[in-house]
Parts: sequence; C-alpha cells; structure tokens
Amino acid sequence: MSGGPDDAAARRRIEERLAELRRLSEVGRTARETVRLDQTAVGRLSRMDAMQQKAMADAEEARRQSEIHRLERALKLLDEGEYGWCASCGEEIAPARLEVDPAATLCVRCAQRAQRA
Ligand SMILES: [Zn+2]
Repeated sequence: MSGGPDDAAARRRIEERLAELRRLSEVGRTARETVRLDQTAVGRLSRMDAMQQKAMADAEEARRQSEIHRLERALKLLDEGEYGWCASCGEEIAPARLEVDPAATLCVRCAQRAQRA
C-alpha cells in the first residue's frame, strides 16, 4: 500500500499532529520563561508553587517530546513503505486505529498483549 491514497492521508495527519505538538512545545517554553520572570520581578509565586508548576510543565513537555519522536518514526516508516503494518505480528493495523493514533506501530491485539505483559 506504499504511496497509495491512504499513505498520503496518514502523512498529512502525522505532519499536522507534529506541527501542533511543536507549536505547543514552543508555547510551553515561552510560558516557562514567563513564570521565571514573574518570580524574580514580582515574587508572586511561592517557591513551592513554582516548583510544582515546573514539574507539571516538564512532564507535559516530556510527553510531547515522546509523541513527536513516535510520529517522526511513523514518517520514516511511511518513507520506507512499511507504514500501517504491525511491528509484532505483521498484520495490517486497522485504519480506524491509525486515525486515532497515527503513530501506532502495533495492531490492537498486539498492543493489548503488550499492555498486559
Ligand atoms: Zn499485531
């Protein structure tokens, strides 16, 4: 199915999601800078609040980076014509599943098995 219309749709979906994640990551970076400035200029946030906010923002950013990484890998699979096939059993991954998570590399069955393991 390499180069077919499904691949084109998947690529568009992945690239849109990547652009959105990169934008959010940039917004997050700016927000973190702002918090730091507020702290020094106004001292509005207690140190504890600031640390909690930073921990949350860091966790969010880590999640974003991990999804960006998965999406980039999916793009590479598209380039290689290997997109949409389960990395574990080799069966086709259901298109509906790829619509929800375009970076999925396992079919539903293998993903469930991996979660239980
Ligand atoms: Zn599978």
